[in-house]
Amino acid sequence: MAKDYYEILGVDRKASKDELKKAFHKLAHKYHPDKKEGDEAKFKEVNEAYQVLSDDAKRSQYDTYGSAGPGPQGGGGFGGFGGQGFGGAGGFDGVDLGDIFNDFFGGGGFSGGGQRVERGNDIQVDIEISFEESIFGVTRNITLGKTSSCDTCHGSGAKPGTKMKKCATCNGKGKTVETRRSFLGPIQTSVTCSTCSGKGEIPEEKCKTCSGKGVYKKQEAIEVPVPKGIQNGEMLRMSGKGEAVAHGIAGDLYVRIHVKPHALYRREGSNLVMNLDVKLSDALLGATHQIKTLDGTMVDIKIPEGVKFGDVLRLKEKGVPTTARSRAGDILIHINIKTPSKLSGKAKKLIEELKGEGI
Ligand code: ZN
Repeated sequence: MAKDYYEILGVDRKASKDELKKAFHKLAHKYHPDKKEGDEAKFKEVNEAYQVLSDDAKRSQYDTYGSAGPGPQGGGGFGGFGGQGFGGAGGFDGVDLGDIFNDFFGGGGFSGGGQRVERGNDIQVDIEISFEESIFGVTRNITLGKTSSCDTCHGSGAKPGTKMKKCATCNGKGKTVETRRSFLGPIQTSVTCSTCSGKGEIPEEKCKTCSGKGVYKKQEAIEVPVPKGIQNGEMLRMSGKGEAVAHGIAGDLYVRIHVKPHALYRREGSNLVMNLDVKLSDALLGATHQIKTLDGTMVDIKIPEGVKFGDVLRLKEKGVPTTARSRAGDILIHINIKTPSKLSGKAKKLIEELKGEGI
């Protein structure tokens, strides 16, 4: 039985991309294997559902064949008898999920059945951002040397202005029939045409930039939008920004985020935590201190009279701003009372007096 991806994500069949994303984030968070309550099997299932439903082509394929067709692990038996459900040409290939899970779990992904669409390699890069950028979000421009779709012909491989012509090898069908011997006797197998890579047409004149391949290796500038509230070590996936491949689907780009530590603040969930040294006299009598929040504004903090070491003062909603995943956090100020290590003669005398008062 095929899985109901909508049910797995707990969304309506008409759910928008935004709703899907929200549901996915919530569940992925809940089941993440690094979490105490994590559940790897559920996490994979949720990922699988999201990978399919968030991709327009795969979603429509799933909507059409999903409940009837074999799942991504199906498609065993005779090769080349595609054309149905996920096993069909141009449909769901199963490779995508496998790669993702290899990334996350180091192997043991899905084994896709049926025919596969060529897919470019995934790429992983690391970028370092400041603590402030991790809190408020930032857009980073990176340059990658990789196989990319040709700008001149937009991947068609044809010289601009020239037409495509029918592929003579497959007579425009994109497939050729091969006869293979088996213990059952000869089997007719439909295979992707190697001349036109299954497109059914070839350029009349090849594009000079890419020699008709539709792709070539070049430096590509990529804009990486880093969302606010991102945590150190988190990975962003940019679908289709990996290596391109002739007549296939480009791989994905994974961007791992490294956050530089901050001199004053550290992060605890959506809260920002800092330590504040308070003079003994201020702790006893109370005082006002100025705090620099992450966006650079100065805020007055009232130190209450009689504050104790370890007390925590809270600046509401001055922490990590509201994100798709969580509500705004606070700034938490941990009070540290500075005991003077050296006392002047006068101070010593005054404290002796305090001692007489029973303090
Ligand atoms: Zn080209």
